[in-house]
Amino acid sequence: MKNFILKNLYSVLGEKNNNQLRIIIFHDILKKDEIKFQELIEHLKKNWNIISPNQFKQIITNEHLYNNNKKNILLTFDDGYKSQKLITEKYLDPLNIKALFFIVSDFIKLKSIEDSHQFIKNNFFKTINNNCHLTSETYNMTTSDLLYLISKGHTIGGHTKTHAQLSKIQNQNTLTDEIINSTNELESKLNNYKIEDFAYTFGDFESINKGSTKMIINNYKYLYSGLRGNNLNIKSRVLRRDAINFSEPLQVMSSYFNGYIDFLYSQRLIKLEKWTL
Ligand SMILES: [Zn+2]
Repeated sequence: MKNFILKNLYSVLGEKNNNQLRIIIFHDILKKDEIKFQELIEHLKKNWNIISPNQFKQIITNEHLYNNNKKNILLTFDDGYKSQKLITEKYLDPLNIKALFFIVSDFIKLKSIEDSHQFIKNNFFKTINNNCHLTSETYNMTTSDLLYLISKGHTIGGHTKTHAQLSKIQNQNTLTDEIINSTNELESKLNNYKIEDFAYTFGDFESINKGSTKMIINNYKYLYSGLRGNNLNIKSRVLRRDAINFSEPLQVMSSYFNGYIDFLYSQRLIKLEKWTL
């Protein structure tokens, strides 16, 4: 039903011509979805400027320079799946597209597919999910994959130590481990690479609270949420992102990117932004 509405909304309204500064979230990209990924990139190249993390930051700090009906979009990848490196090598690097990768620091330490699958089942869902079906193509990147991405001009960001739901953590030391120590560890593994971006896990409003928001905002330049919205003219460092799912048709994804359901997220964003003040 939701897809039906959004698909029709997009076919009626089409591409908006106003200024947009959006961010897409990708997760694991399975081989069966590779064609869809390629189609999406082609669609974005036609209708949007795909910008690098650095260009994105230049735009939010100097908005007046970019106020000319531009539709800019940044690609981000969450969690640290191997497929993200493979797809980048195959499709993004040849097009010189630069992306931002949010890494779970304990996930990239895993050395076997079995351990990787167990970690995903235990940590990547709000409650342990032993029913999710994972194949041999789903597993984690390693430190050398991250060094490869950096060498190609991509950006690495933090995404906690274990993918914990930050709003549920009571203990301050655990919170520090998830938000700060995880990134310190990543930085030293990556030859003192400097991380300034952090995406909170699960992305929904219920997965973050005042205490964790404050810790993130005090330790990073930007906090990436999973709440949808346009990042132009925002008054905080809380960034809006659009999660997509390859089972959704391109018109549904385009409805998100053009902001047709942003209003559903605005109240939650206002609350979240209050915590950063
Ligand atoms: Zn995640």
